[in-house]
Amino acid sequence: MAEVSTSKYEFQAEVKQILDIVVHSLYKDKDIFVREIVSNASDALEKLRHIKLTEKDVFDDNLDLEIEITTDDKANTITIKDFGLGMTEDELIENLGTIAHSGSKAFLEAVKKGQNIDSNLIGQFGVGFYSTFMVAKKVEVFTHYWKNDAKHLRWVSDGSGSYEISEEEGQRRGCKVVIHLKDEDKEFAQPEKIKGILTRYSSFVQFPIKLNGEQVNKVQAIWMRNKNEIKEEEYTEFYKFQANAFDEPRYTLHFSADAPLAINSLLFVPQENTERFGLGRVEPGVSLYCRKVLIDSKPDGLIPDWLRFLKGVVDSDDLPLNISRESMQDTSLIHKLNKAITNRFLKYLEEKAKKETEKYEEFYKMFGVYLKEGIATDFTNREQLAKLIRYESSHTEAGKLTSLTDYVSRMGQDQKEIYYLFGPSRDVIENSPQMEAFKANKLEVLYLLEPVDEFVMNNIGKFDDKDLVSADSSEAKLDDIKKEKDKDGLKSKEAKDLCKWISDELGDRVKEVSISKRLVDSPVIALNADKIMTPSMRKIMKSIHKEIGESKNEINLEINPNHNLIKNLNTLKDSDKDLAKLVVEQLYDNALVAAGFIEDPRSMVNRVYELLERVSTA
Ligand code: ADP
Repeated sequence: MAEVSTSKYEFQAEVKQILDIVVHSLYKDKDIFVREIVSNASDALEKLRHIKLTEKDVFDDNLDLEIEITTDDKANTITIKDFGLGMTEDELIENLGTIAHSGSKAFLEAVKKGQNIDSNLIGQFGVGFYSTFMVAKKVEVFTHYWKNDAKHLRWVSDGSGSYEISEEEGQRRGCKVVIHLKDEDKEFAQPEKIKGILTRYSSFVQFPIKLNGEQVNKVQAIWMRNKNEIKEEEYTEFYKFQANAFDEPRYTLHFSADAPLAINSLLFVPQENTERFGLGRVEPGVSLYCRKVLIDSKPDGLIPDWLRFLKGVVDSDDLPLNISRESMQDTSLIHKLNKAITNRFLKYLEEKAKKETEKYEEFYKMFGVYLKEGIATDFTNREQLAKLIRYESSHTEAGKLTSLTDYVSRMGQDQKEIYYLFGPSRDVIENSPQMEAFKANKLEVLYLLEPVDEFVMNNIGKFDDKDLVSADSSEAKLDDIKKEKDKDGLKSKEAKDLCKWISDELGDRVKEVSISKRLVDSPVIALNADKIMTPSMRKIMKSIHKEIGESKNEINLEINPNHNLIKNLNTLKDSDKDLAKLVVEQLYDNALVAAGFIEDPRSMVNRVYELLERVSTA
């Protein structure tokens, strides 16, 4: 026999780190490895099924598409064999020697960021194949790629620094993973133990799984079954299987439709929004089936991008079975499916928001950001989405949320517009001069606490035929505040002259200076003369297009003719013009600061010193 050449390779550094964590830090939930290897086997079979649609010349073509597991409690091994597509030598190196798997990468990132390594974390990201080393002192992978002329290969490693690859004749198509158990993990060589693990989640694998020759799963498509016959636990188990998750679904929507398209769908919202961890976008997690046959596990275009947090399955009888993944994106069918599913899901959320408000708000706090993304990017669903967003308002207690629909239901007869105000916190908004008139007129104002929210409001534009208007915009159509006439206040002529004088002093820093009808306690207010380009929008724009962001804020200034400071200023401008000028400058800056329009307040510090100096020597 010819001498078998063996090549020795080092694991990539990141893999070593993962292996180290897997071996030394993950003690709980060792069961995970069974699930990871079975799901790899299932993926490999799925891929082969697709290959067989177009390729005639497949190695070991007569083999059944199934997964065979054998346990040996004498040798202390467990072997998981699939007749899937197998791997070439290069693929062995690429897939089992480096981190190809996005989950593993995210896992490592999370660990580096100092998150606790527990089964929850590994559950969220999965460490795939490497999880075998939780229980193994040695792992062998025997494989033959699906092409006839491929090599018969053996990969082996003890999970420390390196692995070896050699040729070894006699392999069948697919992969055979032989796990040599550590002494303390012998229990995984017991069939009952493995059967217990398999029945829990592998019942949804779409290929037969045989344990020591006996089939342990009923290949079933839970989404095709009648809703009334399915137990909550079955949904949960299917979710865990489908989403590779360890939590319980937050929402489960199981529906079917006949017209205009035949759809059976089972959708889940997870507990956690993993994008929150800053580890990049989640991949779409709704698979496309046609009559129980998987067409694509990550189809493009099946659901809108902003619904990418959804997990589950969509099955449609109307898809041609032989549809290729490439041609799928363009079909109008996918487009129609997308529309039907999105509509149904949004309706479902609306129902939930009505019936279980608190639960919905929890969902909203975690996933609301996606709905906002939808409003900004998806014109067709904007109206529906607008009903689903929630904000605090002057009408709610701190921390409680309200909807646009509820806001409208509370509007008085004379109120024509919906008001909102952006600010860094509820407290800041409530105490801003912008709110004075709204408080005095008892008008509800929505509190926007994230910069993106103004953008969202601009995109919605109108709700229930009512304009959405920022409370700091000059466009807000406010009635005069009804209050007793202040006899000492500036006469109208005086006030007008003062406005003119201030306007001349400030030059092109203001668009207009006028007498305010909305101020109660503050001397001045700065209003936004540009409805769209608000200061927070400008900040967002600046991060995208520097030039756009650097154009100037358009400001209207309003003065309160009844305020002592304004009255004093009116006399000061004739008695001490220089000091009056300083006061105007300072009033202007104060108004900008109060409105959140100033990004760098340092510039006014020197003027404040000057003012203080004048006052202290007066
Ligand atoms: P994941 O399966 O999440 O991508 P793994 O670490 O489990 O991560 O596997 C890495 C890669 O190795 C897989 O993406 C796949 O390409 C390949 N692989 C693993 N198991 C098999 C198998 N049984 N048959 C074919 N390829 C496999």
